Amino acid sequence: MKGRDKMTGTLARSGNLARIDRLRAESTLPREEMRTLLLTLTEEEAQYLYENADAVRRQHYGRDVYLRGLIEFTNFCRNDCLYCGIRRSNRKADRYRLSEEEILECCDRGYALGLRTFVLQGGEDPFFTDKMICRIVSGIRTGHPDCAVTLSIGERPRKSYEAFFRAGAERYLLRHETFDPAHYRLLHPAELTIENRLRCLRDLRETGFQVGCGMMVGSPFQTVDHVLEDLYFMETFRPHMIGIGPFIPHADTPFKDRPAGTLEDTLHLLAVIRLMHPRVLLPATTALGTIHPLGREMGIRAGANVVMPNLSPAGVRGKYMLYDGKICTGDEAVQCRRCMQERMAKIGYRVVVSRGDSLVDRRDRGTEKGSGVS
Ligand code: SAH
Repeated sequence: MKGRDKMTGTLARSGNLARIDRLRAESTLPREEMRTLLLTLTEEEAQYLYENADAVRRQHYGRDVYLRGLIEFTNFCRNDCLYCGIRRSNRKADRYRLSEEEILECCDRGYALGLRTFVLQGGEDPFFTDKMICRIVSGIRTGHPDCAVTLSIGERPRKSYEAFFRAGAERYLLRHETFDPAHYRLLHPAELTIENRLRCLRDLRETGFQVGCGMMVGSPFQTVDHVLEDLYFMETFRPHMIGIGPFIPHADTPFKDRPAGTLEDTLHLLAVIRLMHPRVLLPATTALGTIHPLGREMGIRAGANVVMPNLSPAGVRGKYMLYDGKICTGDEAVQCRRCMQERMAKIGYRVVVSRGDSLVDRRDRGTEKGSGVS
């Protein structure tokens, strides 16, 4: 604690501590201040950042942690994202698809374990037509009317998103990956553009979905300025959910020799995001748990409030390999669920049986105003 004020005798904060106070009070910082904070934060100052993020999170969500049951239902993908282990040119990937029955069984099992949100995630697999996705979604909603269904199946035409919504899906995760167009091109093949990604995010929001965006921390070629672009994009877009986790290399991708994102950078950003979005749903991701055995616990303490136990059948888990070393690939759903509960209890938080809807103002939904992507 530096800079005792001679006039008042109170502790005047300086440098990064003052920046953190301002970030909490105003839910934002001017670009140069944010830049300095991200570049010069010491680990001691980071503790102060985490405490503030945790306090803000507690104002809105208490010590409750929401569970999302993750069902990785296909690892076929028509895309070729350079960072991703299930990209189409990875010939070594052992491809699988779950049947509609298997997906519904995963949900039944998850329901019995107290899960009230199911996240269907997969590669962009044209085998699953809009009609099939709609049938699966309405099957889940009919079987479990008190549950929410989240889709995370990539870019589709607006008409498809509208059909999914009508079928009963209410949430959609589509990380924007990076807001900077040049950086986006370095991470993706030419046919994928940030413009289309943002078109999708806008369509999803206008359709009525609770929308999640986000990016990897420490992705190849990422600079602090890219991260600032991401933060200010999300500040304008005001998503209901934000998914961030460290980039982790996969041995069968062009980025195999790139270093992983760090635990510290990820925790710093989780906390900054919590202070910028007090009511957002923010997961402590599997990737964070992969780079450090207590990564998810640290993520929760830095402001996250969601964890995503894996509900995929044990037989396919090892095949949904986006990156090397992914944890929980050998466990059964019941083990994942219990493990999560114990981990959270150990640090003084409790997992709750709830849909866990976003508190981000629902009046935002369906309007162009302030969406930042029009
Ligand atoms: N096909 C869907 C789901 C993608 S997987 C879609 O396009 O949205 C979900 C997220 O995993 C991606 O958005 C990406 O940010 C992340 N991911 C992919 N490869 C990764 C890697 N090597 N390290 C860390 N995260 C990765």
